[in-house]
Amino acid sequence: MPRTTVAVLGMGTMGDPIARNLVRTGFVVRVWNRTREKAEPLARMGAVVADTPAEAADGAHFVVTMLADLDAVLETMEGEHGALGSMDPDAIWLQLSTVGVDGAAWLGQLAGEHGVAYVDAPVLGTREPAEKGELVILAAGPDELRTWCAPVFDAIGKETHWLGAAGHGSRMKMVVNMWLLALTEAAAESVALAEALGVDPREFLEIMRGSPTDAPYLHIKGEAILDRNLEPSFKLRLAAKDARLVLDAAGRTGIEPRLLRATRDSFLRAIALGHGDDDMAATYFATAKDDYRSTRATSGWPSSAPMTRSTDPSGSGSTGSSPSR
Ligand code: NAP
Repeated sequence: MPRTTVAVLGMGTMGDPIARNLVRTGFVVRVWNRTREKAEPLARMGAVVADTPAEAADGAHFVVTMLADLDAVLETMEGEHGALGSMDPDAIWLQLSTVGVDGAAWLGQLAGEHGVAYVDAPVLGTREPAEKGELVILAAGPDELRTWCAPVFDAIGKETHWLGAAGHGSRMKMVVNMWLLALTEAAAESVALAEALGVDPREFLEIMRGSPTDAPYLHIKGEAILDRNLEPSFKLRLAAKDARLVLDAAGRTGIEPRLLRATRDSFLRAIALGHGDDDMAATYFATAKDDYRSTRATSGWPSSAPMTRSTDPSGSGSTGSSPSR
């Protein structure tokens, strides 16, 4: 019998577009979110908005969790009116949230205790790929579930990598996050350094374009910083959570990822400055000189750059425009 009903738990930045793509592909979709109002727009597309995770999961062939962190997944799956209590014996739990190595193992054990099939399937890609159905899925779980899961993963992603036993998806996610969190920090600090040295950061982006050390992420995050377009694709506070998960995973192996530790410190500093709900590119504010910390976009370089006498690298004594904070 075809498996056509999917419960999506969590209507955040990622859960919302995932649910929309499942509706568009023809699945019967039930949605639930802790803050119900965020789920309600999905009703206009034909999804059913459930009052509890248990109600959403009841009779569903798949239960997708796309929630902030391990605590949120535990609360949603095994808390009061949790989904695990109402899942059919042949339903499959697709766990997409980033919960780290220990978290994935814990959830696998929980699924086993409830006799529920579990696929550890964290994703790569932020809001825009999620909207376009172009996520990359790092799936791990029993081989016999692959065929069943394929239509769901095809609806939300452009490729699925099956990586072995449950837990290996989350392991690979840690490796990928090690790379991309450090890359984001490097982009942010390079922009901050360009500003501090009095060279045009947009010129820096142009010089890098197409070079062997270029990366699309440098332009995405670099331009977001310069435009002060910090609407979150991935919230800085979740990036800090992910950095901690990587450090925990590495710590278990005896590896000390010094670069990532410094990156996390920077994330925490920017969060303390009030940027936790901004995009992770806002880690820039941890390094930027005070004169550049305005959250308003600078409209050009260098004429309207917020340069003060004390920071004028030309030594000309020109005050330029005054800093706006
Ligand atoms: P988000 O926009 O912050 O959404 C978080 C979701 O979790 C919301 O639905 C929120 O509900 C829910 N939630 C938080 N705490 C909860 C709790 N205690 N009980 C029940 N629900 C709770 O996050 P996101 O960007 O969609 O990310 C979701 C997951 O995907 C995270 O694990 C993240 O690390 C991972 N991820 C994100 C991206 C990305 O680029 N955004 C990419 C790959 C992976 P409310 O609406 O009620 O707050």
